Amino acid sequence: MKKSPLWSLVYKGYDPDEEGLREALCTLGNGYFATRGASPEVRADDPHYPGTYMAGLYNKLGTEMAGRTIYNEDLVNCPNWVFQTFKIGDGDWFNPAKVICRQYEQELDMLNGVLVRKVTFSDKEGRKTKVVTRRIVSMADPHRGALEYSVTPVNYSASVTFRAELDGSVTNYGVKRYRQLSSKHWTPMASGTFGSGIIFLSMRTNQSRIEVCEAARVRLFQGRREIKPKFGILQEKEKIGCEFSVQAQKGKTYTVEKNVAVYSSRDEGVDDVVGAAATLVRKPRRFESILKKHSGIWHDLWDKFDLEISGDPFSQQALRLHTFHLLQTASHHTAELDVSLPARGLHGEAYRGHIFWDTMYIMPFYNLQLPAVSRGLIKYRYRRLSEARKYAAENGYRGAMFPWQSGSTGEEETQEVHLNPVSGKWGPDLSRRQRHVSLAIAYNAWDYYKKVGDKEFLIQYGAEVLLSIAQFFASMVTYDENDGRYHTEGVMGPDEFHEKLPGSKEPGLKDNAYTNIMIVWLLLKAEECLTILPGKEILRLMRKLDLTPKDLDRMDKITRKMNVVISDDGIISQFDGYFDLEELDWDGYREKYENIHRMDRLLKAEGKSPDDYKVAKQADTLMLFYLLPMSVVHDILIRLGYEHYRTMMKDNYEYYVQRTSHGSTLSRVVHCVVAWRLHRYALAWKWCQDILKSDIYDTQGGTTPEGIHTGVMGGSIDIVMRGFGGIDFLEDRIVIKPRLPAKWTRLKMKLLYKRTWVSFTFTKEKALIEVHAPVLIPIEYKGHLHYSLPGECIEISLKKKANNRKTKK
Ligand code: BGC
Repeated sequence: MKKSPLWSLVYKGYDPDEEGLREALCTLGNGYFATRGASPEVRADDPHYPGTYMAGLYNKLGTEMAGRTIYNEDLVNCPNWVFQTFKIGDGDWFNPAKVICRQYEQELDMLNGVLVRKVTFSDKEGRKTKVVTRRIVSMADPHRGALEYSVTPVNYSASVTFRAELDGSVTNYGVKRYRQLSSKHWTPMASGTFGSGIIFLSMRTNQSRIEVCEAARVRLFQGRREIKPKFGILQEKEKIGCEFSVQAQKGKTYTVEKNVAVYSSRDEGVDDVVGAAATLVRKPRRFESILKKHSGIWHDLWDKFDLEISGDPFSQQALRLHTFHLLQTASHHTAELDVSLPARGLHGEAYRGHIFWDTMYIMPFYNLQLPAVSRGLIKYRYRRLSEARKYAAENGYRGAMFPWQSGSTGEEETQEVHLNPVSGKWGPDLSRRQRHVSLAIAYNAWDYYKKVGDKEFLIQYGAEVLLSIAQFFASMVTYDENDGRYHTEGVMGPDEFHEKLPGSKEPGLKDNAYTNIMIVWLLLKAEECLTILPGKEILRLMRKLDLTPKDLDRMDKITRKMNVVISDDGIISQFDGYFDLEELDWDGYREKYENIHRMDRLLKAEGKSPDDYKVAKQADTLMLFYLLPMSVVHDILIRLGYEHYRTMMKDNYEYYVQRTSHGSTLSRVVHCVVAWRLHRYALAWKWCQDILKSDIYDTQGGTTPEGIHTGVMGGSIDIVMRGFGGIDFLEDRIVIKPRLPAKWTRLKMKLLYKRTWVSFTFTKEKALIEVHAPVLIPIEYKGHLHYSLPGECIEISLKKKANNRKTKK
């Protein structure tokens, strides 16, 4: 593969204001661990934050607050393995933030998975030095990281001293809002050396008692020649380092190679983390050979995952960035781990690395390209079913109620109070009332089955998740004899601005339409699932879940009588009482504040409540039209005895888009897809552009430095695959309905249909489809079926009159 600028993010010049964003976007990871792209020489301060996170590594601490202890579980910032610096003679240790750089350039090379930084600076004595660093987190070996650090004295000769460290004195300090909370997660266990140039540090989390060992082998080279300096060991309670000097000659380059191993006591088959780390680094390996293996794996990944776009360099670059970061958060190395995919990646500490419903936006990407990860994400929930059953029971329900925010155990991890950065005040957080998270989990389990066609997995895991959630919702809804309908109460929809009715003391809302309609969808899927499973599996599950025919009968009744509030002109009320709320003065607020995404914070800071206004943080009712085909929404409404209007999707889009501030990036994904489904292609493209810019330019204003938005990244890829590519995987065929954005002249991708890779190339005129296995897969376009033979590429004309031709490869 040839590397073009569209494979890179390049930053020129050192800019402290941009540093946080760059660090997050230049994170390197392999799905097992990830490290932010902070300079090797910096420690945590503002604006630098050299965080390292391991998938699933959490720790819970208590903080005294207003007379009570509140507990928060964090994705833990692990010991900093990257730290490395040098000094000339007796000068200061080099830190790019403290010198004036003549040249400063950082490149994230996504094709090879390498972060390269080139700095040239002069000190007070006029000594000019060139520093080039390259860094990887290996995709070939999940336990391996490597740093290459080259120093060239350009116009002088002097003694140069290097220092390399493993620093366990780190805390969780990445998010300003959380800094009043306890953040020291590590207790030192052991540190020392394994012979010359090899150091190790082992630490244990103080509540979850997970031991992590990092070991580093440090070597010094001048060109190809290894210099064996005398290593001085610096040992403190929580860190270890080594220092060594060389008499550096003008114009020669001195390269430190730091090969690092990272193990945790959560690793399967590893009972001695220190021994495992020592074994990995003992064997001498040059940086170049580690890099070669690592970039080879990245090339293989790109061969499958790259969405190739012609005609629009920005979209190409942004979509690669999204694919790159998703694969770094969850890869083939993640699939077998007992972890899920944090909403903000392994890239920062926002939302404490918790798992939300965001996986629903991301799973389509993995379903169509790396289904092993999808299975892993479903199994993460499956393993926490008993905790979800406990949570349901504690709340007086049956079945499984999953927490809004989940971490290590599957307990509810949503904080009870949160800080409003605008007012500086702590307030109650009712967001755990978002019971719809369980709907998303059930949706994922079902969608995986439908897209991947994996019935075995459904039988073993998916069905139990789906039925347990169905059982929960069936027990949660209440029947009102007065109107003969089933209702939900005390819940919040995806729009987090509305936590309760105006003036009410009761948390949550009545009849959130998204929740209610999705409950009907779920109960119908539960019924369908029971027709698919073999008889003995049905009996097994019914016994295990204590699900009776009477329960099934109740579920069926709910699917016919669930309450949805709909206005006479077909607007689905976000919840019962929504239409009585006040209209917000949108123009006034736009004039008053530069950024009104977080209208909740602005209103609260003004002493008002978002509960009183028709203002949504994100798509709520519109979620229905995002997740379900129009025909399904139609069938459900008719089944419930409501009228369905032909223009319902359009009317609801127009109604709600005017009343949404998009305080969550997920909102734009939903609006984009709904606009696309309404055939408003120019509008959908506008949304898509916003989506692609959101992380790369941090358009939410300061959120990306705290971690990428994996939901929006997954959502953007899904928009290209299923929207612009119009690809739909059905049980017996693939349907295509491509429609490229005006600027795009070509779109190419490879997807996995029932274990067979299929390449799709679309231009405005034609579609080329190649099936990479000797199987016959029917491809449907505009109602016509086309078949491919092995070694042949089907060409389908997309011009008005459809025809079909086969070309020899
Ligand atoms: C959104 C949620 C989302 C969470 C994590 C919040 O701002 O409102 O819908 O799950 O971020 O991404």
